[in-house]
Amino acid sequence: MTLTVVDLRSDTLTVPTPAMRKAMAEAPVGDEQRGEDPSVNALCDAVADLMGKEAAVFLPSCTMGNQLATLVQCPRGDVLLADQTAHILRYEAGAPAALAGALTHALAGERGVFTGDAVTQAVPEESRWAPRVSMVSMEQTSTDGCGRVWPLEAMQGVGAAARALSIAVHIDGARLMNAAVATGIAPRRYASVANSVVLDLSKGLGCPIGAVLTGSRPFIAQAWRWKQRLGGAMRQSGILAAAGLYALRHNVDRLAEDHGNARHLADGIASARGITLDPTHVETNVVILDVSGTGLLATEFARRLQAQGVLLGVHNRITLRAVTYLGVTRDHVVRAIEAIRAIADAR
Ligand SMILES: *Cc1c(COP(=O)(O)O)cnc(C)c1O
Repeated sequence: MTLTVVDLRSDTLTVPTPAMRKAMAEAPVGDEQRGEDPSVNALCDAVADLMGKEAAVFLPSCTMGNQLATLVQCPRGDVLLADQTAHILRYEAGAPAALAGALTHALAGERGVFTGDAVTQAVPEESRWAPRVSMVSMEQTSTDGCGRVWPLEAMQGVGAAARALSIAVHIDGARLMNAAVATGIAPRRYASVANSVVLDLSKGLGCPIGAVLTGSRPFIAQAWRWKQRLGGAMRQSGILAAAGLYALRHNVDRLAEDHGNARHLADGIASARGITLDPTHVETNVVILDVSGTGLLATEFARRLQAQGVLLGVHNRITLRAVTYLGVTRDHVVRAIEAIRAIADAR
């Protein structure tokens, strides 16, 4: 008998369920570029409404959403502020510089969360020499901050500081629905601090592809031009949007299950010898564990886990990352706990 692999590397590993595939197969479609795809239009309306924004545009990826927001709101040579751990700075292949010509300034937040004061202090006195700060991005939830939820008050603090300085506010809401489910705070309340918000459909929401960027009508009109320029305009993409509509109906409330599983994992391994992690930092579906106390590098620890059929992501030299998602069961988590403890305790 072959043991199934427990794969906790990322919540991008969700695969569309039979019911989602059925919804995709049956989706009414049209030409998205002409605004004639009813499924895309329905998804854009639904996400704009969810975020309390005027308009939305359907995109192939959340990366494109972050980049369109930057292209529209951060003119060439201006500064984009984000936390030093942010996806937009770390994992988008330098796109803010390569595409928008943005100068990036990394803020030293606390597990991905920074303050309004940090924004104010990052803005130089206006002069002929100083670069202008035009956009600030907050990542909800902060992935490298161990899935930390930005508290609403913290977001409001950044929003107020940014408004006072005429800086556009963007939310990289790749996992905004995880935050909303974890706190019970409506997505539109988080979104209300921002000019633009992008939601990823291909993470915990379980879609194969897609993201939706929302904002004011004029903002979305400009974002559409950049989507067209970058080759992101599609045709009968209602096939994909239908997955998003299905996910918003069926895969949001269940995120609580992922959060419960992540916390169970954290609680189960926190006391293992040589493993360092604080389970109270696990607010959503991400667990980051420091294995340096075992004397093993993260790559070696991951290799030993893999031999036992458990896959974790190597986050850096000394930390591993486990992410729970649709398809990861409590049994999988129990197996992961046993495997991690066995390797740690054998040291
Ligand atoms: C995954 C992710 C993105 C990018 O999403 P893609 O759909 O892979 O382009 C952006 N921001 C955060 C926080 C993410 O986790």
